[in-house]
Parts: sequence; C-alpha cells; structure tokens
Amino acid sequence: MTTIGFIGLGVMGAPMAVNLVRAGHDVVGYNRTPAKTEPLVASGGRAAASPQDAANGADVVITMLPDSPDVEAVVLGDDGLLTRMSPGSLLIDMSTIRPDVAVRLAEEGRRLGIHVVDAPVSGGEQGAIDATLSIMAGGDAAAYEAALPVLEAMGSTIVHVGPPGAGQTVKAANQLMVGGIIELVAESLVFLDAHGVDRQKAVEVLAGGLAGSAILDRKAAGMLARAFTPGFRVDLHHKDLGIVTAAAREAGVAIPLGALTASLMGALRAQGHGALDHSALLLQVEQLSGRGEA
Ligand code: NAD
Repeated sequence: MTTIGFIGLGVMGAPMAVNLVRAGHDVVGYNRTPAKTEPLVASGGRAAASPQDAANGADVVITMLPDSPDVEAVVLGDDGLLTRMSPGSLLIDMSTIRPDVAVRLAEEGRRLGIHVVDAPVSGGEQGAIDATLSIMAGGDAAAYEAALPVLEAMGSTIVHVGPPGAGQTVKAANQLMVGGIIELVAESLVFLDAHGVDRQKAVEVLAGGLAGSAILDRKAAGMLARAFTPGFRVDLHHKDLGIVTAAAREAGVAIPLGALTASLMGALRAQGHGALDHSALLLQVEQLSGRGEA
C-alpha cells in the first residue's frame, strides 16, 4: 500500500482519487472547497485540512489543479509541497499546465532529491471515472518507473513520451487537435442543418468513414441535443489553447488552424459561455451563420 496525497478533487481529481483507493492505496485528499473531499471519504479515503497536511509523510503526491499558477502556488515556494515531501518521494502533476512550468517543477524536485513526473491526461470525466484515461508522462526513467504503478490505477493507455515537460507538450498537441476537430464538427452540423439533412443519420454514416473520430462519437449527440453541461469547460480549453499558441510561437511553428480555433474559443468565453462544455463552439457557428438559438 502506498500513501498518496491528492491535491485538487474537482471533476477529474475526485474520481481519480477514488480509483486509487479502489486499487488499495491510502489516499489523503485536499481541495480548496472542502465539500469536494466527500466522494473520496465515502470511498474509504481521508480528507486533509491543507495541501501540506496531505503531503506530510506521503510516498507520492498528485496534483490535479486548474492552471499553471495554481500548481506553482501549491508546489513551489517557501511553503510549497516540495518543501514538505521526503527525499526519494514522488510528485506527479496531472494538471494541464505550461511545459516550461513542468520543467521548472522537475528542476526544483531534482535539487531537493524528489522525483517529479508531468502526467497530464486525456479522456474526460468518463475516462477518469472508468480509470481508462490516456496518460502522457514526461520525466526521467527512474521517476517514470516509480510513477507507473500509480498511473495504472487511473488510466489504460500510459506512455512515457520523454523528459520533463514532454508530457505537457503532448497534451498541448492533444488540445490543439481536439479544439480544431470540435470546431469542424460544429461547422458540419450547422452546414447539414442548413441543407435540411437528417443530422442523426448523417452523423451515423460519417462516424463509419474517414471523418469518424472519438470526438464525433462522444460529442455529436450532445451537440444535437444542445446539451452543453461540462464535461470539459470552455474556460479550461481557452487556457490550453493559450499554452498551445505560446509553445508553438516559442518553437517557431505555424499553427494557422490552431490559432483560429484559439481565437474562436476565446470569443465564446468572452460571450459568457466559459462554464459550458467546449462542444458549445456550435453556438458560435450558429450565431455567425445567423441560425439557432444563440
Ligand atoms: P476542476 O475545476 O473541476 O477541478 C480543480 C479543483 O482544484 C477544484 O475542485 C478546485 O477547488 C481545486 N483547486 C483550485 N485551486 C486550488 C488550490 N490552490 N488548492 C487546492 N485545490 C484547488 O477542473 P478539472 O476539470 O478537474 O481539471 C483539472 C485539470 O485537468 C485542469 O488542468 C484541466 O485542464 C485538466 N483536464 C480536465 C479534463 C476534463 O474533462 N475536465 C480532461 C483532461 C484534463
């Protein structure tokens, strides 16, 4: 049994922490809103009063927080978790954050003798509940080996993609693809509607051809039903596309469609839709086309 401190029990973190309990680990969870520790406690885990409390004596600490500044605030600094963790222990940051921040966490960890792995995920809330997440891990070989048994309790596709920060770079590519494909699905649905085609039937046949994708399978039905409860919030995808555009610029790479998607996602948020699922890009295509209820 491993003692695991788990910080950030939101949409993703809560079911991931529960799966760690089910796998036989002793899990001590902390969340800023204390009520969110309830699913963990109900499954046999424990609640901590502070992040430091959760990290004290833990073999492994996992963070699943919204954004880079949240992870920096909790992990780094004079009172940061790295100062509370024992040498030889392991920090796994599973949040989606900037690759350069992930590199900084690993450097600081190395200085203190703590293994650090960046291990962002894809697969959404359902993947977190079912422990079928796709996990892209960055870190040195020893850190990854130490993390693997813990990651296996939360995901079904786990790949060591490279050194510190590489996991976040792969996750950024994931968000670039997901955002762009949702936008094209949204445009296709509005296009089909304008031509009076039965969209259910269209989606059925499209899903079997080259245009078939996990996004069409998982998002089209909700889009047709105009059900935009997240899921993955526009606010978070906006954050991720900021990471993508900055990292592309830094590397000197052109991402014209990605930049356009980032702009559209930002506009959707500015229109007050930040709390909706990212498939709400449909609302904007409808609006631009003078159609729908948006
Ligand atoms: P969320 O907002 O539901 O959860 C984040 C949790 O962290 C909240 O419960 C919040 O109270 C807590 N929190 C924030 N700051 C804190 C702090 N300083 N100390 C302690 N707790 C704090 O977000 P989520 O959907 O669970 O996403 C978490 C991360 O996973 C994000 O980086 C997101 O981009 C990524 N992600 C989300 C999904 C998804 O489908 N929701 C999928 C893949 C990756």
